[in-house]
Amino acid sequence: MRAAICYVYGDPLRVEEVRLDLPQRGEVQVRVGAVAVCHSDVHRIRGEWKGRLPIVVGHEAAGIVEQLGEGVTGVQPGDRVAVSLLRSCGRCAQCLSGAPHLCEGSFAIGPESRLHTLDGTPLLHGLNTAAFADAVIVDQSQLVRVPDELPLDRAALLACGVITGVGAVINTAQVRPGASVVVIGTGGVGLNAVQGAVLAGAEQIIALDILDHKLATATDFGATATINSAQMDARQAVRDLTQGKGADYVFVTVGNAQAIGQGLGLLRSGGTAVIVGLPPRDALAHVSPFDLASKGQRILGSYMGSSRLVIDVPWLARLYLHGRLKVDELISGRYTLDQINEAIASMERGEALRNVIMFEGVAA
Ligand SMILES: [Zn+2]
Ligand SMILES: [Zn+2]
Repeated sequence: MRAAICYVYGDPLRVEEVRLDLPQRGEVQVRVGAVAVCHSDVHRIRGEWKGRLPIVVGHEAAGIVEQLGEGVTGVQPGDRVAVSLLRSCGRCAQCLSGAPHLCEGSFAIGPESRLHTLDGTPLLHGLNTAAFADAVIVDQSQLVRVPDELPLDRAALLACGVITGVGAVINTAQVRPGASVVVIGTGGVGLNAVQGAVLAGAEQIIALDILDHKLATATDFGATATINSAQMDARQAVRDLTQGKGADYVFVTVGNAQAIGQGLGLLRSGGTAVIVGLPPRDALAHVSPFDLASKGQRILGSYMGSSRLVIDVPWLARLYLHGRLKVDELISGRYTLDQINEAIASMERGEALRNVIMFEGVAA
């Protein structure tokens, strides 16, 4: 089997023959059918998050179960599964109170490396997964079965990009019908926040970006109004759309510090800002605790859409199959593993929502 390896930060990945161990207790080997390139993968291989090398990244995947370690329940060889970076022990206080995305025991489960170069060098599993490869070994908690009718490239997106955006709205913020929602940034996660707001029954869904063609896509995903913040005063525009009050919710889906300050400025008194995705560490410079307290506003962090995989992924799969969730439109291009550096470069140029690596011979 082959994998795309990062030996040096910033260098192109090298696609090489590698060896996979056997799955250990609680682990499952999955033949990868499709894996999307996510911004987190790119941050890791560009060295922005530091950490050791060599590594294989890729975590937004789906495929077919091939082999089980001891003690695996819930999947069988031949099952079609989505693979997530989320791991959970099922026994800690967070898991038992319905927040497995914050599992306190997840660091102690799952393989650090089951993958080696042919000369025996261990390869780290980036983001718990290492799916830029023909096959992965992951903890069983990272897998969710998906319906046979769901193509694997669509299944791959559900387990990261889609749950992050939709989950931020439905799970983290629990937006109520009739609410007014602003989504800052209309990339992959932002568009999913827009469709999450549609599912929640939000009355107003205001998409904010600096590129008109991205705003047009947001309208296709269900935005009821769009604001090009490079061309107009976003604060005034949101006030005009909300009878002068500001929005009930603002979802900040872009990782820059100013966007958080901008987002807070768009909220009504008592409103809630939700930080989706990781902002820079200096982002607090743009937040005024005085304003928060005097206006009774809240800031929530949303990690992976506060998702419970076994609940959210099957639900989203059914919505997609019923034509009520857009996933096809999130896929900008399809590539082979040999073309992975092209897929990454196109994403870094900002051309793509999601580029997906497809593996031949695995049922689509
Ligand atoms: Zn991701
Ligand atoms: Zn746990």
